[in-house]
Amino acid sequence: MYLQFIEMAKKIKTVNLKTFKRQVGQKRKVLTTFLRGIHNRKVSRLNQRVKELDQQAFQEIDCLDCGNCCKQMTPTYTKKDIKRISSHFKMTEKEYFDKYLYKDESGDIMHQSTPCYFLQRDNKCSIYEIRPDDCRGFPHLHKSDFKNASTINIQNIDYCPITFKVVSALYDQIVNKK
Ligand code: SF4
Ligand code: SF4
Repeated sequence: MYLQFIEMAKKIKTVNLKTFKRQVGQKRKVLTTFLRGIHNRKVSRLNQRVKELDQQAFQEIDCLDCGNCCKQMTPTYTKKDIKRISSHFKMTEKEYFDKYLYKDESGDIMHQSTPCYFLQRDNKCSIYEIRPDDCRGFPHLHKSDFKNASTINIQNIDYCPITFKVVSALYDQIVNKK
């Protein structure tokens, strides 16, 4: 059954979020176990492999056909993000914070609710040019050491078809030797 991972992930090309959810439900456990155990594996060129799979996935999946991160997740804000975006709306940083943001128990600054306030009906972002850095880099697969990002990647499998596709393909490469 695991040999089918990459084939299943390929079918996501036009993003059907219901199908995606079903596929994630079927594979979450094994992919989560794989990511938790990645620290103990010796994998040649791991970060380079992830980078190549990430580029391939972005060519095959159109984020404007998905928008799921903007619908179901909240970006984490930096102070620079707050300054830049509040200024765009001619608000003080406090006004912007009070209207849209809160600080969670670990000190991260997030949106108060989902979907994102700036997500349009066509899945485009109304503040695209000045969006938070977290949005700009999401899902961050190639930006950090893959082994050190397993917690965040486990979370993102549930929301992001690109993450699901990359992790599925990596699983096939490493475990199934495909
Ligand atoms: S700010 Fe834009 S890119 Fe970021 S979550 Fe909202 S709609 Fe998406
Ligand atoms: S980054 Fe992932 S969750 Fe966000 S729109 Fe693209 S495929 Fe969907």
